[in-house]
Amino acid sequence: MPVAPVVILLGPPGAGKGTQARMLEEDFGLVQLSTGDLLRAAVAAGTEAGVRAKAVMEAGQLVSDEIVLAILQERMAQPDLGRGIILDGFPRTAGQAAALDRLLAAAGQKVTAAISLEVEDEAMVARVAGRYTCATCGEGYHDQFKQPARAGTCDKCGGTAFKRRADDTAETVRERLTAYHAQTAPLIAYYDEKAVLQRINAMGHIA
Ligand code: ADP
Ligand code: ZN
Repeated sequence: MPVAPVVILLGPPGAGKGTQARMLEEDFGLVQLSTGDLLRAAVAAGTEAGVRAKAVMEAGQLVSDEIVLAILQERMAQPDLGRGIILDGFPRTAGQAAALDRLLAAAGQKVTAAISLEVEDEAMVARVAGRYTCATCGEGYHDQFKQPARAGTCDKCGGTAFKRRADDTAETVRERLTAYHAQTAPLIAYYDEKAVLQRINAMGHIA
């Protein structure tokens, strides 16, 4: 059962949803729920949902609402939801947004804020194609824009293992951008109508 506030992060791949979510976690004690992370964990664990999602994710398309909702509800049933949640990468379709409203209404709650990270598509391909993270603490890095101070060592935790997502190729990013504009961008108007939308210019450099 979710606890207020419920913050939604909207934005195309590379806009910095994960980075913003981590800052909100640190600043406000909220818990990040990333459907992308939950799906990647399901793929790695080889669950039924993971097996069904794998090829769709590799193609840069959207996993079915049914699978995503099941995986998110399972996570939201766990007790460690902090002082509220940040939904990173969810909802991504009108159907998911409606399902979220129903889920929250059943608990006497609603979306507190939807933050739209506004960026230019062209810049996103370069951002996503060069990015990688520390395998230990999850700190984000980039081949061009943000290398660790000491090569091969994480600034934050000293870890030396890094990882890249299988779907972070230029080709797949273009596919994900198309999916974003077709299916997710309409949610910006949906939350604007509910008067919970905040737009942020997210074109600045990675801090
Ligand atoms: P990004 O925003 O950089 O594309 P995510 O980690 O949020 O990265 O998502 C990675 C992939 O996981 C998506 O391309 C899609 O296949 C799948 N996915 C994540 N969240 C959802 C969602 N809410 N609905 C459908 N598919 C999703
Ligand atoms: Zn680290």
